[in-house]
Parts: sequence; C-alpha cells; structure tokens
Amino acid sequence: MMVRQKQTVKQTQASQLVKRQITSGTREWADRNVNCMKGCSNNCRYCYAKLIAKRFGRCTEESWKEMQVRGDVVHRTFRRQAGRVMFPSSHDITDSPEARAACFAVIKALLEAGNEILITTKPRVSVTRGIVETFGSCMSQLQFRFTITSANNRLLSFWEPGAPRFEERLQSLQLAYGAGFKTSVSIEPFLDYDPAPLVDLVLPFVTESVWVGPMNYIPRNGISGKDRRRYDEIRSQYEVDHLREIYTCLKDLPRLRFKDSMMNRIEFEDEKARRCAQRRRRAAARATTSVCN
Ligand code: SF4
Repeated sequence: MMVRQKQTVKQTQASQLVKRQITSGTREWADRNVNCMKGCSNNCRYCYAKLIAKRFGRCTEESWKEMQVRGDVVHRTFRRQAGRVMFPSSHDITDSPEARAACFAVIKALLEAGNEILITTKPRVSVTRGIVETFGSCMSQLQFRFTITSANNRLLSFWEPGAPRFEERLQSLQLAYGAGFKTSVSIEPFLDYDPAPLVDLVLPFVTESVWVGPMNYIPRNGISGKDRRRYDEIRSQYEVDHLREIYTCLKDLPRLRFKDSMMNRIEFEDEKARRCAQRRRRAAARATTSVCN
C-alpha cells in the first residue's frame, strides 16, 4: 500500500514537471504534444525529457538510447484537437523500421482525424522523403520544424551524438521546401557562439519561421574531466549580454523568432537594471533633500 502511495506521488510529481516543461517550452509552438516512443537514440546531452525520465526511474543513462514503441499510443483513436498538435516532443522520428512504422501510423491517424500537425525532428533524409511522399496530399495540415543547431559537425556529434550531421538536416529542409511543404527551423539550443551564419544558411528554405534560443538545461553532474571545458564554454555562451547581442543582430531579419527562454532572460535583466537605476535615483533625491533641509 505504502509503495503504491509513493508511486502515485512520484507519478504526480513527474506529470507536474512535464506540464511545466510543456508550458515553458513547446507551448510556444503547439497546443498539445503526442509521443509514441519511449527513449530517443539521438541521446542529446541537454535532453530534458531524458532528465525527467531518469529522475522518475523510467530509464537509465544507458537505456534512454534504446527506443521502444508505445503500443497504447500507436493503436489509439485520435480525435480532432483544438489548435495544433506537435509530434513528437520527447523522441525523434528515426529511420529504424519500428520507429518509422510507429511514427508514420500516428501521423496518419492524426491527419485522418483532421488535425494540424507540427512535425519536429532532427531530420533524416530518408524519413523526410517518406513523409513528403506518404503525406503529400495532406500538406496543408503539416508543417515541418527541423532542429538544426549548428553547421559544425564536431559540435553536433558532441552535443547530439546520435542525431544526423548538418548536411543531412539541411538536405531534409531543402527537400521539404522543394516539395512545397511549410517549413520552419529551430536553432534551439544554438551551439555556435554566433548563430547568425547558420540563420543565413537555412533562411532561404524556410516558409514560416526560424526560432533561436539558448540551451535550457545544461547538466552539471556526471561530466568527465575531459568534457568539462565544453560545458563551461557553452554555459558562458548563454550569458545575458551575449544573448542581447544576438537579439540585436538578428531581430530585424524576416521570419526570425526568439524563444521565450531567451527573451525572458533578457527582459528579466533589463527589468533588474531599470529597478536598480530607479532605486539609485530615489536615493540620490533623498540625499539632496536632506542636504537642502
Ligand atoms: S532529439 Fe529531443 S528527445 Fe531526442 S534526445 Fe535529443 S533533445 Fe531528447
């Protein structure tokens, strides 16, 4: 009984944490999320879904990479949902036959129910081609959001070890764009110190939006000595003055959007500076008044 109560508390905590993550992250993009796999072979070092799954005993550092189909979702009957559905948000559409079959079945079911879908992926060309060919007749209901966080394959292979190289992601973007689909790109987290050259590379193939944002979760524990420098470097890359510099440099570009996680930090610091200046002005005014009296 005690064990069951503990499990229920754990499950509630887990769902609250996941809800918070959805509100602050993917809610900017869609009204609800659908996922049909456990784990993700991309195994990104900054993965928040992995952090939560590990914290609540649903996987280990090692087992997260092994993707498992969630039969309950694949065989579910979907209804038409209000607003846009993001698919997937806590795994990727990889090219393993099981993952591909499960993900395509879910996309089909969501489309047949009349849903509008935002497909978010670190794209493989074979998967992108498969979606384009299979669901071309529903293209008005689909938008691709390709996550392309750097053009530097050394950075990609460190931070997103199981995900495709830059060239494959760019080729996927070009393929979907060329086929007439709605396309957008997420440069979140931007892995280069300056994301502007990457924005220039992807922008010509984007019909909707390019999103830029920092890394929201940077692990502090379990990092080997040889990797620590990389984590320190990336942490300093997201200091607020640098975020402001990037914002100033990119803000006037067409279709460019900034994630709330970036704008909130800039606005929070600006508000702090404004209040600080206000306090100083008041203190100076009080000092002048007391001298006059
Ligand atoms: S692609 Fe997304 S879900 Fe998969 S490991 Fe990377 S951050 Fe996590």
